[in-house]
Amino acid sequence: MARYVYDFAEGGRDMADLLGGKGANLAEMARLGLPVPAGFIVTTEACRTFLSTGTEPDGMSDEVSRHLAAVEAAAGRLLGQPEDPLLLSVRSGARFSMPGMMETVLDIGLNDDSVLGLAKASGSERFAWDSYRRLVQMFGSTVMGVDTALFEEALRLLKEARNAPDDLHLDAADLASLVDVCKSLIQQETGEPFPQSPAEQLRRAILAVFRSWNAERARLYRRREHIPDDLGTAVTVQCMVFGNLGADSGSGVAFTRDPATGRQGFYGDYLPNAQGEDVVSGIRNTVPLADLEDLDPHSFARLCDHMRTLERHYRDLCDIEFTIERGTLWMLQTRVGKRTAEAAFAIAAELVDEGLITPDEALARVSGDGLARLMFRRFDTSATGEALAHGIPASPGAAVGAAVFDSAEAVRRTAAGERVVLVRQETTPDDLPGMVAAQAVLTSRGGKTSHAAVVARGMGRVCVCGAEELSVDTEGRRFTTGDGTVVEEGTVISVDGSAGAVYRGAAPLVDSAVMRYLETGERGAESAGVVDAVAHALRQADAVRRLEVRANADTPEDAARARRFGAQGIGLCRTEHLFLGERRKLVEEMILAGTDAERDHALEALLPLQRRDFTRILEAMEGLPVTIRLLDPPLHEFLPDRTELAVRVAAAQAAGNQPDPHDAEVLDAVNRMHEENPMLGLRGVRLGLVVPGLVAMQVRAVAEAIVERVGAGGAPMAEIMVPLVGAVEELRLAREEVEHVLADVSKESGITVRCPVGTMIELPRAALTAGRIAEEAEFFSFGTNDLTQTTWGFSRDDVEAAFFSAYLDRGVFATSPFETIDREGVGRLVDIAVTEGRAARPGLKIGVCGEHGGDPDSVHFFHTAGLDYVSCSPFRVPVARLEAGRAALSGIEAGDSR
Ligand code: PEP
Ligand code: MG
Repeated sequence: MARYVYDFAEGGRDMADLLGGKGANLAEMARLGLPVPAGFIVTTEACRTFLSTGTEPDGMSDEVSRHLAAVEAAAGRLLGQPEDPLLLSVRSGARFSMPGMMETVLDIGLNDDSVLGLAKASGSERFAWDSYRRLVQMFGSTVMGVDTALFEEALRLLKEARNAPDDLHLDAADLASLVDVCKSLIQQETGEPFPQSPAEQLRRAILAVFRSWNAERARLYRRREHIPDDLGTAVTVQCMVFGNLGADSGSGVAFTRDPATGRQGFYGDYLPNAQGEDVVSGIRNTVPLADLEDLDPHSFARLCDHMRTLERHYRDLCDIEFTIERGTLWMLQTRVGKRTAEAAFAIAAELVDEGLITPDEALARVSGDGLARLMFRRFDTSATGEALAHGIPASPGAAVGAAVFDSAEAVRRTAAGERVVLVRQETTPDDLPGMVAAQAVLTSRGGKTSHAAVVARGMGRVCVCGAEELSVDTEGRRFTTGDGTVVEEGTVISVDGSAGAVYRGAAPLVDSAVMRYLETGERGAESAGVVDAVAHALRQADAVRRLEVRANADTPEDAARARRFGAQGIGLCRTEHLFLGERRKLVEEMILAGTDAERDHALEALLPLQRRDFTRILEAMEGLPVTIRLLDPPLHEFLPDRTELAVRVAAAQAAGNQPDPHDAEVLDAVNRMHEENPMLGLRGVRLGLVVPGLVAMQVRAVAEAIVERVGAGGAPMAEIMVPLVGAVEELRLAREEVEHVLADVSKESGITVRCPVGTMIELPRAALTAGRIAEEAEFFSFGTNDLTQTTWGFSRDDVEAAFFSAYLDRGVFATSPFETIDREGVGRLVDIAVTEGRAARPGLKIGVCGEHGGDPDSVHFFHTAGLDYVSCSPFRVPVARLEAGRAALSGIEAGDSR
């Protein structure tokens, strides 16, 4: 019989799939003996069943009643009893944190009777009526679907009538009358009364939290964060504790280390006389956690003890939510905290130094995406001038954009191609689309743990929050700085999320310290911490990884840079890039040649140029393999634009002139070569087989470059790669020609030129016949760009802009298959080709040189598929090194079932 409810005492952190992150960690804290208010968890399985069937799972409600009875027995009070009532909170908690995206209902158990009991027990009528008001509003909107704006308007009218600047100036009688108004609004809007039965309140609140899994903003957040849609949320039901019972109460959020920089020490925000929600929403400005030491030294000392316990237990940065109710500290939540990329590297390195984790564990805790973020540039503070305002550096990085004042405007302008900064007093989950669209988020209220900060950090968006000097006028679409400067919507501003500063205009950027270190090995003193931490992680990755990392580089400069970044060779040198610029003329000559002699003349002119390119690249990569790919794109790409030419010729004719004969001749050639689908036309090996002399010229250039390097005392390691092979016969023919030229050059030079000949696997047919192809190939390199294009039938130049956003929205895939390898389809072809290629030729060297070679998730796939190397753009090389190391830690190797 399925079981849907667990007591805290029955759970633990390893049960997050079933109990959600929040529930599992509450259970863990309870087990550690930390002060956690009693409660229980309704499982994600119950949620999934409810969402798929539309009805409460069988037996769930009995289980809830039994667990409630146990909580009531432990508390010695009944839910919603008239005297000193037990009240409950009902909160969402999915496997992965989705801050603020789902619903919460607090103060369950209050009704027209128990509110009086609460007033007596707490000694504060005002507090009791305020709690009841919160419940009626939250329940009314979350559970019964009444528009929150109606409640807000009722509150505003009351404040106006009482001349009260804020809620704190409303007394108990005011709040009691507000409860009546809100209850009438509910009756009026829904046709039913606010339920007085505590059990009914609880039951309906649980189901409403289940339903909130599918709220629009929650779906959007999941899509962005790649969280599967079918996990469901657990629901944590817990005794309420109150942080708003007076000056000896309060709520706060704390981190065991600084989540922005990783620096040691306790960080956080505290808000006296407030509920947790008030801290996170950023509605009132908090004080730093350190101030709690003066306000309540006893609770502060206990909190510090608990934080130490948690960090030692989790062996990681923990974030914590707590409430102090009349001098008693309660722990309401903990989890391994989100952090910036900088903090992730710094904390991992520190925990190794402290002996809490191993270097392998440290490596597992950083990521290639994080490293890529640290390789970004930041503002040059010496050139930024006076800041418009300062706030809390909530999510690092540098961003420039036009100030906009609501989410819809951010989305609209971004869609039109503009970069924007979303400026708000504070953000709510409804601002999510704007936060996704914006380069940065700037708020005038809220601390490091406000919604804006948490969500922006999670998405890697730059964020400065709590910039109190700013007065944000959303209606008037402008903000005013402390000295009275007015900044209107559309004005470009620069936001420094690392320093917490905002500047007018587009501030200049400087290179990142991590990038400088990777390029030059220098460690500037000011950023030695993060640079050392990155260096440690990369060293560890290099020590454990099996995959080699090469670079895609076409010029000696790129090759040299790739080498500095740690590339172990070039996995793809696209020789077509050597046909551009000045040389285009020669290529044109070759294409237009009417006779063999004319063609040979053009090829002969190209030969020394290509030889020099290859010599310089081989020199830059001395001692490392360089895979040189024969010409791939269709030749017409090297001719002038067809439309332009046609217009020129037609214009001359229309003016009664003879068109330029060269124009006419080129247009003729372009028309002859025009293809409807050039990506599937005369390119790759096909070109080599039908254009006489092309392969021979390129191979001769490679071979002579090798001879030259050997002559200069070098040890060149060139490999020749044939593109777009679909059948072994194509490769055999191309290879014969290659071998022929290599033999000729060997004979002419007296130096034996040995050069492995391999092929790209970038067509489904090549993958499916890899066993045959391996008979002729000394190595394989997966061209996953073309393999994705041809497997899906997606034109790689067209589809991303045309309809991928619709496909992503509609869940056809979670990320573009051109970005992250499609394991199910393209990945299966890779598996087949690896298995059959190696069966035919044991030890066959296999790599990948499509864009996926630098994508973290894809690198893990290639490791597991048993490839020997990945090749990616020079800037992705450090990322690929790191991820190849992390992939090796998983222990999954080729042949293991996935
Ligand atoms: C590929 O197809 O993956 C590849 C590397 O080749 P190109 O992108 O040059 O077609
Ligand atoms: Mg290709």
